[in-house]
Amino acid sequence: MFLTKFASKITIIHRKDSFRASKIMQQRVLTNPKIKVVWNSEVVEILGDSKKVTGIKIKNTAGSRSSLACNGVFLAIGHVPNTKVFVGKLNLDEKGYLQADRFMHTNLPGVFAAGDVQDIRYRQAITAAGTGCQAAMEAEKYLAEHEK
Ligand SMILES: Cc1cc2nc3c(=O)[nH]c(=O)nc-3n(C[C@H](O)[C@H](O)[C@H](O)COP(=O)(O)OP(=O)(O)OC[C@H]3O[C@@H](n4cnc5c(N)ncnc54)[C@H](O)[C@@H]3O)c2cc1C
Repeated sequence: MFLTKFASKITIIHRKDSFRASKIMQQRVLTNPKIKVVWNSEVVEILGDSKKVTGIKIKNTAGSRSSLACNGVFLAIGHVPNTKVFVGKLNLDEKGYLQADRFMHTNLPGVFAAGDVQDIRYRQAITAAGTGCQAAMEAEKYLAEHEK
């Protein structure tokens, strides 16, 4: 929806035959004359010259392949928090997000969490920056208290 403010035509390549978003958002997308949806398909290759994107190659779930000319590609394929490095060291939830209390403390004293990596719900720049500020202030407090 956002991209339609800047582009004359948007094609959504979607792996399944339906969306999971709220009905109202689906309706807005499906009735937007600038948006076309290609269902049951995924992008297998991004084509381009040395300067810019020129198109994509698509494969549908039945196995047939096609090409689509386009000027840009935006990936939106879900979220996986990059927390493998903390496995066994910090508490993670079942989806891999770092667990922190409301003061951004993890289970390990002196280690604080901030940003999307500990936020399954909002994952926004402003909330990431806000929790970053909280974590920084808590870290400063922790260091001051443990100076000696
Ligand atoms: C397509 C898209 C559109 C968005 N639009 C908006 C919007 O309109 N408004 C809004 O508020 N938010 C938007 N967001 C969300 C916003 O970008 C995030 O909430 C925000 O960037 C999270 O900040 P962060 O610092 O927690 O994580 P990130 O910005 O992801 O930063 C994490 C950093 O850690 C680095 N890193 C990862 N692993 C390691 C490692 N092992 N060692 C060292 N460094 C590592 C990464 O390279 C990255 O630089 C959008 C996100 C996407 C993907």
